[in-house]
Order: sequence, then C-alpha cells, then structure tokens
Amino acid sequence: MVAPRFFRCAHAMQPSESMMSPAANDRPTRIVVDLGRLASNLHLIRARVGVPVMAIVKANAYGHGLVPVARHLQTVGVERLGVAFVEEGIALRRAGVTVPVLVLGGIFGPQVAQFIEHDLEITVSSLDKLRQVEATAQAMGRRAAIHLKIDTGMERIGVHSYSCGPLIEAACASRWCVLKGIYSHLACADDPDSPMTARQLERFQEACAHFERLGAPMPTRHLANSGGVLHFPDTWLDMVRPGIALYGVLPGSASKRSIAVEPVMSLVSKVVYFKVVKAGNPVSYGATWTAEHDTRVVTVPIGYGDGYPRALSSRGEVLIHGQRHPIVGRVCMDQFMIDIGRHSAWNEDEVVLIGEQRGEAISVETVAEQGGESPYEVLVGLNERIPRRYVGGLLRD
Ligand SMILES: *Cc1c(COP(=O)(O)O)cnc(C)c1O
Repeated sequence: MVAPRFFRCAHAMQPSESMMSPAANDRPTRIVVDLGRLASNLHLIRARVGVPVMAIVKANAYGHGLVPVARHLQTVGVERLGVAFVEEGIALRRAGVTVPVLVLGGIFGPQVAQFIEHDLEITVSSLDKLRQVEATAQAMGRRAAIHLKIDTGMERIGVHSYSCGPLIEAACASRWCVLKGIYSHLACADDPDSPMTARQLERFQEACAHFERLGAPMPTRHLANSGGVLHFPDTWLDMVRPGIALYGVLPGSASKRSIAVEPVMSLVSKVVYFKVVKAGNPVSYGATWTAEHDTRVVTVPIGYGDGYPRALSSRGEVLIHGQRHPIVGRVCMDQFMIDIGRHSAWNEDEVVLIGEQRGEAISVETVAEQGGESPYEVLVGLNERIPRRYVGGLLRD
C-alpha cells in the first residue's frame, strides 16, 4: 500500500477522470468546486459556534460531489458527516472515508445489518425501530451506534417530544445500542424572526431532561441546521449540522450572512454559437420571446437536461466579459440563448451561470429567486451530466 501523500493542487483536478471518457471531460460546461472555500467555511462556522460540526453531505453534497467533498472535509478535520440514506453512507465508506457518519433518514428493518456492517450511525425514531436495531445487532453480535430522533414540530420522522420518555428509557437500558446522540430538526430557522425555533428548542430541552430524571449520561445533543447556525445561538448545544451554509449559500430569502461563508460552487460554460437575430423574429421553442430590434444572440451548451432550471426562460441572466446579459426564449434541454445586444462575444468565450467574473457575480440565491425555486433545489438539481472540477484544496493522493 502506498502511504498517503499530500500536495497542493497546481491546476483543476477531477478525481474520477480515469473513469470518464476524454470527451466527457472536455465538456466546456462544468461545475468548479473551490475546496479551499469549503474548508474555510467549515472553519468559520466552527470558530463561531465553538462546538463540533456534523457536515451534511446528502444529495451528492448539495450537488458539489459526495466523495470529493467528504474526503476533503475529513482531510481538514470535520468531526462527523451526515447523509440522508444508507446508500450514501456506504458510498462514503467504500471511498475510504473513516470519520463517524450519521444517516439522518428513517430506517427500514432489513437495512439495519448494512448500517452495522459499514459502521454507520443509525437514526432511531421510535420504540419499534429501536427493537429492530437491537434484534439485528444482537444477531450479528455487534453493537449499533444510534442517535434518537425527537419531533419538536416538524411532524416528519421522530417520536413526539411529549411522548419520548419510554424511547429514551429503553435506549438507555439497551445492551446492543450505543447511544451517541439525541437530535431534532428545525422547521423555520432560515427566518431569524420566526417564533417557531424558540418553541422547538424548548420542547427539545424538555425531551433531554429525561436523561437527568433517569440519572443517565447526556448524549451529544444536536439541533441546529444552517438556519440555526446563522440565526439562533441557543440551538448550537453540543454539535451543529449545517448543510447549505457550508457551501456558502443562505437557506432562505430572510436569512442573514451572520457568518462570512463564501460560495463554493461556480457553474461555467462557453459560447458555442453567434448570430444576429433580426427585429420581429422569435427565439427558441414556443416563440415566446421576440427581438424588438436587430440584436446579437449567442448560444450556450447547457440546458434543463443538466438540471439548469427551465424556469429561467426569459428570466435568468449570465455573465460574459463581466457583463450581465439576459436569457431570451425558453431554456432547451441542452442549450439556451442569450441576448448580448450590441456587445461582442466569440465562440469559446467564457459564460458564467453561477459565480464570479471580473468583479461581477451571480449567486445561487439570485438564480433561485429568478427561477422561483429554493437555493437547495438549484444546487441539488445540477446533475451528473455536468463534470465537476476541484480546485484550491489539499487533495489526498
Ligand atoms: C438536510 C438536513 C440538515 C442540513 O440542513 P441545511 O438547511 O442544509 O443546513 C440538517 N439536519 C437534518 C436532519 C437534515 O435533514
């Protein structure tokens, strides 16, 4: 076995390069992930909250690439990772990620063996699920690491805070489960003015009081998602679980950048065609946009087949030469058109769809607003057809 080496990356790297055809790699449309910013966001958040961070990397690390992001977070010292499904946890283990991983989603009995086999922490959200985990752990002769999930107002998975006593008592008494944590999820923390968060925190504290009543040691308490991290210091408790903020994006339109996290993702492409559209002629499917006067129109080779929102048709903007230009007509599956007016652009000129160019910027938040989506959907929607490039980090060989 070769000892791990660390080196500073001199140019953009694509860890899965060898698995892809050269043609796929040459695609001029790409997502650029700045691992340096990812690490600095993690460190900014940790410095502010003063407790360990469980970095959430579900849904392909919010579109940034599950394995490269998780590996880098591990390299720069993240305490724990969180994913939604057991398959995501197994993918991390297969990629050699060794930090503790909590699977946040609800479990099915037959999956429990996989959790234990791959050393993944299990969310236990009811007494029934606890019994399933115990039975499997006992049968395998291996203890299972669990976090109890309390529902404090989300009404998703989790035992209600007002009836969680028996689950907590059974978990404390369990021979085959190691109680690593207790947690709940905030429904409205993206809005700093919502009264819901204080109510949820109070219910969570009441649930945790059962441990004192039982004279049992308190497991790690965690409650804060990105909204909690940004707006509600009382929710930080023993560990925080930021997702979107780690990638430098705010969770909601009312959210405040109270920690100076910076965007990690850029989405760039290149001009593939130039033409002049004559006054009165429509552009793209459905002929929904018509040139008022002769104008220059360029085509960009990315579309909703890549997850770029079709809702940006005649609404979104891109940057060329540091200048904002409007998308005109419908976004097609594989391309869309931009009206550059009297400006110039040549084939292969860089087009920035998300990110910075010559001091101008288009944020994920802006794209989300223009497309009538949440920033989560914009990030997670960008699919596997777009190659990811990783820059700015210490990458593990
Ligand atoms: C997705 C998720 C998070 C992270 O949410 P963000 O709003 O992206 O910070 C935290 N906890 C749970 C349980 C989640 O499902």
